[in-house]
Order: sequence, then structure tokens, then C-alpha cells
Amino acid sequence: MLAMARESWEASVNLCKGLGVTLKQLFAKPVTVQYPEERVVWPDRTRGRLALPRDPQTQAHRCTACLMCEKICPNGSIEITTRPNEAGKRVLDDYVFHLERCTFCGLCVETCPFDALRMTHEHEIAVRDRSGLVLHLQQETQVFNEAWRGALPSKKDA
Ligand code: SF4
Ligand code: SF4
Repeated sequence: MLAMARESWEASVNLCKGLGVTLKQLFAKPVTVQYPEERVVWPDRTRGRLALPRDPQTQAHRCTACLMCEKICPNGSIEITTRPNEAGKRVLDDYVFHLERCTFCGLCVETCPFDALRMTHEHEIAVRDRSGLVLHLQQETQVFNEAWRGALPSKKDA
């Protein structure tokens, strides 16, 4: 009899605790947002898709086609082709980024000795056709120009 009473008491206490949590959340500020109308501000070090940002003055990217990012990538997400310039020096021809393979580990950005590669905050990457996830970063002259020291997190600032 005593054991039953104790069990009933404990069940009532636990029930009240649960209802207390529900009541508290009823008046708490919602943590969700009405996406896509509302957007959250991403932390600076958010790892979105890669970019080769360009200097706003010179319009040039910093990639020297050293291939270190391609070599360090654990899953072959980066394929770089090079060509000789007029002076016979090796320069970047095509920087193919396979977004469909990328795990956003950030190794390529950390490895780049010229601070040429950045992870943007871009995360809305859904496409109907997988071929839309094969990007040619050196062609993106407009998208990231203004973000060279802006929206794109700098390794120096991080
Ligand atoms: S992005 Fe950096 S690491 Fe990759 S090829 Fe260009 S300079 Fe080298
Ligand atoms: S973030 Fe990681 S997986 Fe993605 S391209 Fe860079 S090294 Fe490869």
C-alpha cells in the first residue's frame, strides 16, 4: 500500500515536471525561423561551398595553380587543369569543384599557401540535375568580387 502511494506520488511529481517544461516553452522566444522568408545570420566560420574570391581592385584571384588543394582533398572534389601563359609559367586554366562530393571538411582552405580559397556561407545548393553541382570556380568573377574581405570569412580574421 505504501509502495503504491509512493509510486503515485513520484508519477505526479514527474507529470508536473513535464508540464512545467511545456509551460516554460509556451512563453519562450521561438528558436525557429520562417525559412525562406526569414534567414538566420550565419557565424563567420560557417563552412559553405568553396569560392576563389577576387580582389575588388585588380579583379584577379590569388590561385597560382600549385595543386595543393587538389592533392589534400580526401574525396577528389577538386580537379584543376593548368596551362602555360605567354611567359611559359604555369597558370590556372580550369578550377573544377565537385560540390556533390564535398564534405566541407575545410582541408583545402587550410592548405592553400596563398589564401586563395575560401568557404562561403552559401548553403542553398539543391539542384534538380547533379551536373549543376559541378562548378568552375575561376569563372565566378561577379559573384564573389565584393566579398573578398566582406561576407567571406578571412583565415586571418578567424
Ligand atoms: S587554390 Fe590555393 S592550394 Fe589550390 S591550387 Fe590555387 S593556390 Fe594552390
Ligand atoms: S572542403 Fe574538404 S572535401 Fe570539400 S573540396 Fe575541400 S578538401 Fe575536398
